[in-house]
Amino acid sequence: MSFVNKIIILFLVVIVFSCTSYITPSVSTYEGGEYEVSDMNIKSAPQGYSSKKAKNLILLIGDGMGVAQITAGLYSNNKSLYLEEFPVVGLHQNHASDNLITDSAAGATAFACGVKTYNGAIGVDADTIPHKTILEECEENGMATGMVASSTIVHATPASFIAHVKKRKMYEEIAEAFLKTEIDFFVGGGKKYFDRRDDDINLIEQLQKKGYAMSTYFTKEFSDLTIDNSKKFGHLTSDADPVPFSQGRKYLLPAAKTAMEFLKTHEDKSDEKGFFLMIEGSQIDWGGHANNAEYIISEMLEFDNIIGEALKFAKEDGETLVVVTADHETGGFAVNNGSTLDSLKTSFTSTYHTAELIPVFAYGPGAYQFTGMYENTEIYNKMRLALGFE
Ligand code: MG
Ligand code: ZN
Repeated sequence: MSFVNKIIILFLVVIVFSCTSYITPSVSTYEGGEYEVSDMNIKSAPQGYSSKKAKNLILLIGDGMGVAQITAGLYSNNKSLYLEEFPVVGLHQNHASDNLITDSAAGATAFACGVKTYNGAIGVDADTIPHKTILEECEENGMATGMVASSTIVHATPASFIAHVKKRKMYEEIAEAFLKTEIDFFVGGGKKYFDRRDDDINLIEQLQKKGYAMSTYFTKEFSDLTIDNSKKFGHLTSDADPVPFSQGRKYLLPAAKTAMEFLKTHEDKSDEKGFFLMIEGSQIDWGGHANNAEYIISEMLEFDNIIGEALKFAKEDGETLVVVTADHETGGFAVNNGSTLDSLKTSFTSTYHTAELIPVFAYGPGAYQFTGMYENTEIYNKMRLALGFE
């Protein structure tokens, strides 16, 4: 076939394809809802979008998880990741208000509050004005809420969903936010910010007075804990930062699984109203800062197993939207020429974050809103829309 003929055929294929997708409004179906193809051409939310409402929302944030981190995880794991099962993938632009390169505080505040803010800001906008977080709004709507992280629970990512402070390092102030909200379930490190504070106030005792079953760390593996579903639950897994997965941290997967079951049935309220759960794979980022490919890959694969649990839950439940994304890429990580499935040749261009666009994966009611390319703040709008918030 001549070159000209090939071009003509390609041209015809493109025309036929565009006509069928734009003129015939077909409906695609998968577990969790029906979506008209015309609804997929949304450039940014909120727009009129009709579909089944999501009752539960599980937001999974892989801190520092860019496309190269996912690539390295995929090829190190025999070309297999749970992420491949998502029907919808989009890209977000993650710059902060004051810097093209975001940090985790501004990045998570964009998801939690829908505002672009400065690096270091926790739940406040560029003028340091507090904005209600999606976790707080879910609580106001009677939903059960929870957070699980493999960093301290007061670290920038989880903090941005529950606290409103000017600087991310205000860990003791962030810990106080856990008493100001009605969060039902939380697991992460950072016990010292609760019980060995400058003000000598023991927040663990205060949380217990408020009705929390607070479990102490070091004593048991998470999977050995007995959890009373009628009480709120908090578990602080280490004094400061939890150790990497490769050094024996085991709690993230059982805590994430327990969180889903706990929140689904907690005090009967989520049976009716649903729940919001944020799970963070915090240390993919730390592997990037350390320019350590093995650290990245082990954290990435642990996180992917948790993603698999969330998908399994959502498929069985049928009313759960699962959104997986990252705040930013870390390390300028690359998988290079000379790599094989047995041995990846990797390199880094930075020990900090980069400006790379970040993938967003979605499954469940409202998932199709997440296709396309948009600002990180739109993730907040799309999640609210999927939950049917006004
Ligand atoms: Mg983080
Ligand atoms: Zn970082």
